[in-house]
Amino acid sequence: MINGVIIGGCSGVGKSTIIRRLLKAHPEFRFSVSWTTRQPRPGEEEGVHYHFTTAEEFERLIEEKYFLEWEKVYQDYYGTPREVLESDGDEIIIVIFELDTRGAINLKEKYPQFTTIALLPPSIEDLRKRMAHRGSETEETINSRQAYLQKELQRLLTFDFALINENLDETVSRAERIILSLNNRTKFIAPHIEKLLDALK
Ligand code: 5GP
Repeated sequence: MINGVIIGGCSGVGKSTIIRRLLKAHPEFRFSVSWTTRQPRPGEEEGVHYHFTTAEEFERLIEEKYFLEWEKVYQDYYGTPREVLESDGDEIIIVIFELDTRGAINLKEKYPQFTTIALLPPSIEDLRKRMAHRGSETEETINSRQAYLQKELQRLLTFDFALINENLDETVSRAERIILSLNNRTKFIAPHIEKLLDALK
């Protein structure tokens, strides 16, 4: 059984850092490795952070309906492969998706049982600083990303949970508590209830 957790938020808000920390603490979580046509940043590994590919290959995969959802974010393609939802048996598998806000909303529409968690910057100033610190983006990219920001913030209002990323440790631990508590939803416990009912027969 898949317990899907979609972590969304503006670019530069710290999604990747928080997810990295969550995955380190919980190797049992499955991370949905997206496909992208953007260039790898220093330190990013093929198959770990993303599957890096060309626009031609990506478009072929769209045709083949390989993706659960895909988006053109800024000037590059990003997509979530279908196979990440493969599971058998009653074991609960927590799958973490790191998506832009449009992708998060699209995926949630397809799978309403998935949970959306929004990550918010403490302030716009803070977000700008983080984007500038990343250093891998040009002035032009940063400006185009900021134009997109307003829309992203409005979309985040529809998410199930929202965390203000003021203090990294605190945000990771809040996210962790939300994610783990989701495993207690009755639908995940239903097989156990069925067993109890069988025992009564
Ligand atoms: P970045 O280039 O900074 O890694 O990612 C740019 C944006 O695309 C981020 O908001 C990231 O969360 C989002 N993103 C990464 N993978 C996917 C995906 O598979 N689908 C969608 N819709 N967005 C993605």
